[in-house]
Amino acid sequence: MRKVYLDHAATTPAHPEVVQAMLPYFSEIYGNPLSAHDWGKEAAKGIDRARKAVARCIGAQTQEIVFTSGGTESNNAVLKGAAMAGRTRGNHIITTAIEHRAVLSPCTFLERQGFFVTYLPVDSSGMVDPDAVRRAIRPGTLLISVMHANNEIGTIQPLAEIGAIAREHAILFHTDAVQTVGHLPIDVEAMHIDLLSASAHKFYGPKGVGFLYVRSGSKIGRFMHGGSQEKSRRGSTHNVPGIVGMGKAIEIAEQGMRDEIAQLTELRNRLVRGILEGVKKSFLNGHPDARLPNNVNVSFRKAQGEMLLRLLNEEGIGCSTGSACNSSNVGPSHVLDAIGLSHDMIAGSLRLSLGRQTTEADIDYVVEVLPRAVRKVRTFVEDLR
Ligand SMILES: *Cc1c(COP(=O)(O)O)cnc(C)c1O
Repeated sequence: MRKVYLDHAATTPAHPEVVQAMLPYFSEIYGNPLSAHDWGKEAAKGIDRARKAVARCIGAQTQEIVFTSGGTESNNAVLKGAAMAGRTRGNHIITTAIEHRAVLSPCTFLERQGFFVTYLPVDSSGMVDPDAVRRAIRPGTLLISVMHANNEIGTIQPLAEIGAIAREHAILFHTDAVQTVGHLPIDVEAMHIDLLSASAHKFYGPKGVGFLYVRSGSKIGRFMHGGSQEKSRRGSTHNVPGIVGMGKAIEIAEQGMRDEIAQLTELRNRLVRGILEGVKKSFLNGHPDARLPNNVNVSFRKAQGEMLLRLLNEEGIGCSTGSACNSSNVGPSHVLDAIGLSHDMIAGSLRLSLGRQTTEADIDYVVEVLPRAVRKVRTFVEDLR
């Protein structure tokens, strides 16, 4: 049976060259990068190279990169760190209704600690209005956190505009760029970004490693009290193989970025066309143009996402849904809710996220299988009534 993985927004396979680059760092170059001897210095060289590669990719200085365990840790460090470091100056945070749980959940925690959080709404395409950001600012606003691209519907936010507003008011500006680092061009200077979260496993690197960009002078405190690693901002012995792998992954991503964007955009458009033409009462969610090149999110009226997911899996297709109780969500998608979809449209939603290995034949296979699967689910749902 044909196997088609269309869940790259959840995670990507590590590139073979990434794995090769990592291997020596498990058992040959095993020193602690903090050690002053040759073993340590060799390991430190690997870390330095990765730091340079990561910094270059987003237009940062090497000393502004802090290695972490991934997107969730980076987001937690920013939200809690900015709140703690700023609590004598203010108690207000601005974010959006469509952030990843790794931002929303720390916000809920902070609200319980006495902070106030404004959750900006989005329009029906998932776009944040920069003017709404401006209007939400008040004395005591410590941080503005707006994701670069949404992981469910792919909508890309006007970061440079929002960043300019934050800068004008001297408020820290954070972006969860986990879906865009290594996929889209990013320039922390042009976009006025002070803090940026990224995760290696979303750009063909290993799982459990990521980074946080911290603009020099930004006050966010320490995220892990312990040793002197990462200028004492995050104690804990470096995940040397992981960091080296992430560095390699970002080098590969940067090199192939232009071609990949073009290739994925074409395949994505082919898939969208195929679905909308092949399935009655199907609708594209998210922004038509300002969206991730690899993201397709669709809703089928009177269908049922989980059932659809199971049928597609039986046909060798892996994707995800925003309906209730999927693996990553506790309830129906808060993102699809925020763009104003009805219960029916949320229940019948499907996210297909393409990747480097996706081919035209894969897309055509999905376009062939999907209409049948939706018909089957609709018949079943109809029978239940
Ligand atoms: C995957 C993801 C995260 C979490 O990253 P981890 O490295 O898996 O912790 C955070 N934000 C967004 C937008 C994501 O897509």
